[in-house]
Amino acid sequence: MTVLKIGLTGGIGSGKSTVGRCWAELGATLIDTDAIARSLTLPQGAAMPAIVQEFGPLAVDEQGALNRAWMREQAFADPAVKRRLEAILHPLIGALTQEQAAASSADVIVFDVPLLVESGRWRQRVDKVLVVDCEEQTQIERVIARNGWSRETVLAVLGQQATRSQRRACADALLYNEAITPEELKRQVLTLARHWT
Ligand code: ADP
Repeated sequence: MTVLKIGLTGGIGSGKSTVGRCWAELGATLIDTDAIARSLTLPQGAAMPAIVQEFGPLAVDEQGALNRAWMREQAFADPAVKRRLEAILHPLIGALTQEQAAASSADVIVFDVPLLVESGRWRQRVDKVLVVDCEEQTQIERVIARNGWSRETVLAVLGQQATRSQRRACADALLYNEAITPEELKRQVLTLARHWT
């Protein structure tokens, strides 16, 4: 059996997770790389020993998880900090992702990778890149409604992500999740699944 590996990406609020769930409903294995990354930095997380060694005890909160607020501050002040953290996390994320993929018996595996375009290392691991896109104003409104964040916070996150055109340039297919209902989005995923499989 040939397994189709799809890299699913999109800016925050584009509808990427919604599209991922549509694929899962169609029987695909959905691998959430963000959830994997988070699990690595929970108390007892596999990345925690290396993080303490690299950044010292301030990087850890009372529960033994990554002190995200402290880490964010350090990373804003010095981009090298972010790279050092990524050097710890990325190989572990890669290994766990491969582990989950190896355990899949589905004929489609969808890797949900928010920063696929930014990271560069994902393109060669997947057969197709699927980009979910919408207008920036819609992203902002959705994230404010979903996360309860301020507009400024959403804009700060958007500013750190790839632009819509950078993402589009990497896409084998694009779902334009703008002014359509979630049901219509689901129909478009089904059409694409038929086309690709
Ligand atoms: P992402 O994973 O890209 O951040 P989500 O899939 O979580 O985005 O979608 C962001 C929010 O917008 C969610 O609350 C989701 O239910 C909503 N949403 C996504 N697509 C649509 C749509 N076509 N119509 C209405 N709401 C949508």
